This record gives sequence, structure tokens and C-alpha cells, in this order.
Amino acid sequence: MQHPHDPYVRVRGAREHNLRGVDVDIPRDALAVFTGVSGSGKSSLAFGTVYAEAQRRYFESVAPYARRLIHQVGAPKVGEITGLPPAVSLQQRRSAPTSRSSVGTVTNLSNSLRMLFSRAGDYPPGAERLDSDAFSPNTAAGACPECHGLGHVHGTTEESLVPDPSLSIREGAIAAWPGAWQGKNLRDILGTLGYDVDRPWRELPAGQREWILFTDEQPVVTVHPVRDADRIQRPYQGTYMSARRYVLKTFSDTKSPTLRAKAERFLTSAPCPACGGSRLRPEALAVTFGGRTIAELAALPLTDLAGLPEDGTEAARVLVADLRSRIAPVVELGLGYLSLDRSTPTLSAGELQRLRLATQLRSGLFGVVYVLDEPSAGLHPADTEALLTVLERLKAAGNSVFVVEHHLEVVRGADWLVDVGPGAGEHGGRVLYSGPVAELASVAESATAVYLFDESPGPAREIREPRGWLTVGPVSRHNLRAVTAGFPLGVFTAVTGVSGSGKSTLVGELTAELEGVERLVRVDQRPIGRTPRSNLATYTGLFDVVRKVFAGTPEARARGYGVGRFSFNVAGGRCETCQGEGFVSVELLFLPSTYAPCPDCAGARYNPETLQVTYRGRNIADVLDLTVEAAGEFFADTPAAARSLGTLLDVGLGYLRLGQPATELSGGEAQRIKLASELQRGRRGHTLYLLDEPTTGLHPADVEVLMDRLHGLVDAGHTVVVVEHDMTVVAGADWVIDLGPGGGDRGGRIVAAGPPERVARAEGSATAPYLARVMP
Ligand code: ADP
Ligand code: ADP
Ligand code: ZN
Ligand code: ZN
Repeated sequence: MQHPHDPYVRVRGAREHNLRGVDVDIPRDALAVFTGVSGSGKSSLAFGTVYAEAQRRYFESVAPYARRLIHQVGAPKVGEITGLPPAVSLQQRRSAPTSRSSVGTVTNLSNSLRMLFSRAGDYPPGAERLDSDAFSPNTAAGACPECHGLGHVHGTTEESLVPDPSLSIREGAIAAWPGAWQGKNLRDILGTLGYDVDRPWRELPAGQREWILFTDEQPVVTVHPVRDADRIQRPYQGTYMSARRYVLKTFSDTKSPTLRAKAERFLTSAPCPACGGSRLRPEALAVTFGGRTIAELAALPLTDLAGLPEDGTEAARVLVADLRSRIAPVVELGLGYLSLDRSTPTLSAGELQRLRLATQLRSGLFGVVYVLDEPSAGLHPADTEALLTVLERLKAAGNSVFVVEHHLEVVRGADWLVDVGPGAGEHGGRVLYSGPVAELASVAESATAVYLFDESPGPAREIREPRGWLTVGPVSRHNLRAVTAGFPLGVFTAVTGVSGSGKSTLVGELTAELEGVERLVRVDQRPIGRTPRSNLATYTGLFDVVRKVFAGTPEARARGYGVGRFSFNVAGGRCETCQGEGFVSVELLFLPSTYAPCPDCAGARYNPETLQVTYRGRNIADVLDLTVEAAGEFFADTPAAARSLGTLLDVGLGYLRLGQPATELSGGEAQRIKLASELQRGRRGHTLYLLDEPTTGLHPADVEVLMDRLHGLVDAGHTVVVVEHDMTVVAGADWVIDLGPGGGDRGGRIVAAGPPERVARAEGSATAPYLARVMP
């Protein structure tokens, strides 16, 4: 039994994923950092065990009926945890791309601003005071009636509906039309109406094109289908619908996300003429504060919004003071360039996590454990200090702060360090050290110790000479104003600058259309798939090889099983209860729905007959359960499989299981999978590789491996451009483009460009001092 004042969270016998019966004690009311190479088990310990257990206890306490469901979902595999407070997790999850959430809603700052307008705004003479809801585009009271609070209206143009006007209608000129029977039906109706469906679209008279695409008429005609030799169709009554009508109707009515997404491709979007994109009713836009509408204030960078004067009525003073105190931590975390109306899907995962973090400071919670996932992601070294201050403040408010981190400055700032390892997957899963940071130095086995305590810069390198130059610009987009940048070809370039300085905006202008680029490959951190049906095996094409191997076994041949039988995406071989997902969704009253293993196949995804087929003693589900490393041995003599597994291993992904759903992979893992599948392809000609913060989620040891691969690409004649905050990576580049000096309106210029040692000495660069420290 634990002493009630025992200041430790004590974990006993943790066996989640690769953890090998871990026992560890972590002090509460401390900043504890979890380190270790990628795949060592840090997240399994911090999120999979500590956070998951706190979550389970919380569910049990608020909803006793949920017990049965938790049993189904599975509690974390751990013997016992004592001293565990309730937990809040801040993970790097991106929000759904369609969500209406914005910086203002995530931080609750929108509420404060609305309150200010409702209580202390300047109203036109005679106007009634509005409720604060009336200032929200997400309520019926506030939304612009014209666009329903969306801010834009959807339309169609001839170009959007007919992308290739050289085709005839029969050849599919009207790309927006449905396929299959319905599309043929519309074409037959046009034919019946006397339109020439075999002439190239652009040769049809303008009046006809207009009618076909945009008419609101819906004539009904008797269609006599052309008879196919083997099929006789009767005449039928067909109703015509113009392409615009079809697209708008599908977009607004369909229940199928696929059809809706398809329809959306043919829509153009323009700002709503009624509200000018502000999404609000005219009555709300008539109210001002300090001479500006709420929409205008929501469009200001937060640093400027914080400059609202604290004067006027008592109510105004109090409300403005509150707003400013809420903005302060957001600015401190380097996000002052954001505006309240910025939609969250346009933010990076790191920006979003830091916003949530800043918001927590005002939550007034104490006695909880915050579990964070690499809060330094996307953060310039100049802002790391501020991050530590914010984490300290959460702690000072009486909380425990557990952080999975790689950034060495953050690690050094911790009160307590839990080092997991020594390797990844089955080579890891042990706690090598748990204690104050300094004493890690004596742990010989630790990969972290090497980097944490040896600060001697790497060896000097020879700088490569560019083979030519790409000129980009002048670019005027977001905060860049007529910026022209030169990118050297055939070398390794790092683009640096504080968060919001314009790095992504600038590299976004690199396109394959530029002279001197034969191929451009963007290796970004977007998920490799949005459903659990995609995984690294399907993404890299490895699964095709694996299915062929299974279809080639004597057992499969005897049963007549082809490659399709081994797919979990089509009927035949898969488990029909879960349709090959391995999971079924469990709806919990009042709680977010969760997933539970399929009751029939227990997560195997296939039906029993399919699972009877084995190759070297393993069935297809067993193979999906192998790690990349184990699969490499298993398929050593299948060259196509061995090659793709080899490249995955090379980029540090040996610990991933082949069937791990895309939805469970981090942004960094998705990026490395894309890189690997790119590396395994035969490369034709010169390629420009563009990577956004490729070191995210990587331990310094993994960074070294990855950099070897990227420099290998350059040595093979290609060009590599990375956006990066890790100064060791920047120091190893041939060329550096530093943007800034600040974020948002305070940035957007090229502060310095040149070889690293020159940029390290540049005046007025926020990057220079940090780069100088690691230069050989
Ligand atoms: P880290 O956080 O150190 O990068 P993880 O805790 O994510 O490492 O992973 C540790 C091991 O557990 C890896 O071998 C990984 O493949 C495995 N693993 C991670 N998530 C899952 C999961 N949902 N199911 C099964 N294994 C997993
Ligand atoms: P970095 O990559 O250096 O963090 P970005 O290029 O993402 O910087 O951003 C530069 C500026 O452009 C910032 O002020 C940012 O708020 C703005 N910005 C970036 N993306 C968008 C977007 N999708 N919509 C509006 N503003 C954006
Ligand atoms: Zn509108
Ligand atoms: Zn199933």
C-alpha cells in the first residue's frame, strides 16, 4: 500500500507494446522528460501506459456503465500504477480538414472577444445590444444568412466542369458528371435532344455549352438507347440535369464522403458577397470596438490584438485585460503571428499543440499530469527557452508535466529524465535510467547520453559546389513581399527561421515547372492514409509482393486462392464482420466512440479459411504483425520484398509492424515511409527532394542515420532542400537560407543566405547564434 504522501507515480510491470515488464518511479510535480530512439517505447510508456491508465480510471469514475466497454477496448497492460493523478494529453493530432475550428476556438479567445463586443462594443444609434452568440459565425444567431457562416459561396465555371475541352462529350469532356450508368444516361439524353456528343467540346457553339453545363431546366425525354450487340435495352424516360445542378446537388445532399469529395473537385469557391468572407450577419458587423469590427480584429496577428487599449468603461477595461492575459502565453510560445480567424487545418501539428498548451495555462487545473508529445516540434531554438518557461508554469500551478522529447535543450531543462531503450522495438522496451538529468552520463548503454553530454561539434566537412541555380520569385504570398530566392542545385540546402517567418510559404513555391528541375518530390508529414485500411505495406507496394508470395504457395494453389483472396479490402478472403478492418467501432453514450477488436477475427482481419494458408509457418495476419526488421529476415530471399524492407530499415523504421494502421503513425513516421518508398524506386534523372522538418520525432541517433541517406541522395546527383530547426542538420548543409527576422509581419525577408559558416556570423539573424554554437 502506498503512503498517501508518496510523491511518486510508481509504475510496475508495464508490458504495453514492446515494454518488457517496466518498473519505474517518476516524481509528481516535476517536469519529467522521456527520451530514447524512435520506437524504443517512450510513447508506449508515457501515453500507452500512464495516460491510458489515468484515462481508464477517469472513465470508470464518471461512467460506471463504461466498465464493460473498457474491458472490451482493453486496459493498458500494466501490473499496477500508484500515485497517478488524472491526466490530460496534448498530442500532435491534426484536426479534420473540414472542421470549422480556428485559432480563436481552440484557444477560447473568440469567446473573450465576443464578450467584449457584446458588452463593450460601439453600437450604431438605435441598435439593440447583441448577445455574445450573435458574434459567432458558428451559431444560428450570428451566421451570415447568405453563406450560412461559411464565408464563401460555391460555384462552378466551364473550366472547373470541363477540364479538357478537346474531348467530346462521349469521350468524357464533362468530367464532373457521374460515371457508369448515370453518366451514360445523361449523354444519351443530350443525344436525344439533338446535341452532338461526338464533337470536341470546344467546337460546340457557346450557347449549347452554356445550356448543357448551367441550365436549371430539367427536361424529360424518351431515350432510345443504342442497342449493344448482346444487350437489348428498352426505351425509357430520362430527366436531364445540368452539370452545375448535378455537382451542387451532390455536394449538398450526398451522404457519401467519396461522392462529396468528388463533387467538391469541380466547385470553385469565392468569398461570400454578403459578408465579404467574415461569415457574420450584417447586424454583428455594424458593431465596432476601437473603430474596428470583430472580423477585422480576428484577422489581426495576436501580437497586434494584444495591443488593444485598456481604456473606456470599466467593463471594457476588465475584458481587454483578460484578453491580453490570455494572448500572452500564445505569443510567448512563438505564435504571435497567428490570427484568431486562422483555421486549424492550415496549422502544423506543432503549432496546434503549442496553442493547446498555451490555453492550458489558463485552465486553472491543478493536480493533473499533462502528457505531451514533442512540444518542440516546429519550434526555432530561439523559442525553446519560452517553451521551458511555459512548462515550468504548468508545473508551478501544481501539475505534473510528462514530455516525450528529443530536443536536447528541453531534455537538459528537465527535473527528471526517463531514458528508454537501448534500441527500437524488441531491442528496446527497457528503462535504462530514471533520475536527475546529470547522472545519465554514467549510463553506458544509453544512446541519449552520448548526444546529451558530448557537445563537441562534428568534424568539418567539405562544402559541395552548386551545379546551377534555381531562382524562385518574386514571391508575394502570406507574409512574403516580393521575395526572390536562389536555390543551389546538386547540393543540400537548409531553410531556417523562427516559426511563422515564411519558410513553408517560400519552399511551397518550388515547383516541377521550374527550369532545371526534372522531378520534384515533396516528402511531407501528411498521413499516408486516412483510414486504418492503409498501412506501410500497402503504401509502399510491399503488400502486393507479400500477397503474391501467399498466392504462390501450394496450399493456395490447391484451393484456387489468387492474390485477391489475401486482400483485406475486398470481399473473399477478409473477415466480413469487420470488413477487413480488424476493429469495430463501439459507441459510448456521452463519450467519444472508440474501437474494439473485432469479435470474430480478433483483429486478424481475415476469415479462418484464408488464415489456414501459411508460408514458412506464418499466415497472412502473422506477416502483417511482423516488424519491418523481422520481415526483412523472413523475406530475405524474395528480392522485391527485401529491397523495400531494406529501405524502410535504412530510414529508421525497423520497429514498425507491417500492418500498423496509417492512422496510428506519427507525422514523422509517415514522412519517413514516404521517403523510403521514394528511395526504393529506380530514380530517373535529376530530382529535387523537399522535406519539411524531417527530424521531427527523431532521436539524435536516428537523425544521423537519416542525414546519411539524404546526403547520399545529393552525392548521387540530386538536390535536397529541408526546412529545419535542428542546428546540427543545418551545420551539415552546403547552403542555408535564413528567413525572418521574426514571425508573420515581422518576418518574410531573407535575412541571410550562404554556406553555414557565413550564416552563423550574419547580423540580425535569429538563427545565427544557435548555428554558431554547433559549427565545427
Ligand atoms: P517511441 O515513442 O519510443 O518512438 P513507441 O512506444 O511508439 O516508441 O513504440 C514502441 C514499440 O511498440 C515499437 O516497436 C512499435 O512498433 C510498437 N507499437 C507502437 N504502437 C503500437 C500499437 N498501437 N500496437 C502495437 N505495437 C505498437
Ligand atoms: P514557417 O514555415 O516559417 O513557420 P509559414 O510559411 O507557415 O511560416 O507562415 C508564414 C506566414 O504566413 C505566417 O504569418 C502565417 O500565419 C501565414 N500563413 C501560413 N499559411 C497560411 C494560410 N494557409 N493561410 C493564411 N496565412 C498563412
Ligand atoms: Zn456570408
Ligand atoms: Zn473481423
